[in-house]
Amino acid sequence: METLIYCPICNSERLTNELSCKDFVASGETFMLSRCSQCSFLFTNPRPALSNIGKYYQSDRYVSHAANKSGLSFMYRIYDWVRNYSIGQKIRLIRKYNQSGKLMDLGCGLGHFLNGVVQSNYFDAIGVDISDDAIQYVKKTFGYTVLPESSLSNQPSASLDVITQWHVLEHVHLLNDRMATLKRILNPEGTMFIAVPNSNSWDAKYYQSFWDGYDVPRHLYHFNQQSFTQLIEKHGFKVVQVLPMVFDAPYISMRSEVHQHNSIPFIKGAFFGSVSTIKALFSKEYSSLLFVVKHQ
Ligand SMILES: [Zn+2]
Repeated sequence: METLIYCPICNSERLTNELSCKDFVASGETFMLSRCSQCSFLFTNPRPALSNIGKYYQSDRYVSHAANKSGLSFMYRIYDWVRNYSIGQKIRLIRKYNQSGKLMDLGCGLGHFLNGVVQSNYFDAIGVDISDDAIQYVKKTFGYTVLPESSLSNQPSASLDVITQWHVLEHVHLLNDRMATLKRILNPEGTMFIAVPNSNSWDAKYYQSFWDGYDVPRHLYHFNQQSFTQLIEKHGFKVVQVLPMVFDAPYISMRSEVHQHNSIPFIKGAFFGSVSTIKALFSKEYSSLLFVVKHQ
């Protein structure tokens, strides 16, 4: 375990323990969330060191959920359908900013979005992932060579027109180093699309420590609009648009219901996910947010 003494965004030492959360997915262990009194950033603290976090990814959710045939497979089937549907939407959004060029899907996981981009023929696409299992899976399933995360440092400066990170940044140990790398490799006219769970959402407040968006200890950071914007601006970027990830709300709520061992989690999750989305029509605090980011 490693304990952060300073806020990773603003370096303040004024940290308070806010919420204790259980790892429902892999270990059953409990982790504390620390809040920075200065910039409101919420993060898992203490957290497993980079050298030790691998074992917390040893679960169906992260390793082989595409092949899961039991238990929560119904939920995964819905998730897969929604994901396939949303790929087209994401590509349309990206092309409003950059019509074509070189696109990196950073944290490409099982490669579904990467495959959608390749199939669209608009971009020269590369996938990057930290997991050897994911890299092998994408090779076997789609035939694409995915680069390991260590290759990021070899990426030429200003070489990418688009960088996408779908629920990835909250997993990155060396957050400021990663941001500096992104700053270097993104073309001056390029655009980043970064989706993260929103810890200010209605469903986060409703489910509290059972909220699936916390997903400790794999999620090291629990962004809200304020803390995300502060991180981005610290590294010379600006947020140009904030969009909802509307399909995430029912999914996150269903999983949160499962964590509570509630009956009919699919129906309750769909209901409370819808409540969260309706509330967010007014507050703009959607369950997950997609930030469109460019150089300052
Ligand atoms: Zn702070």
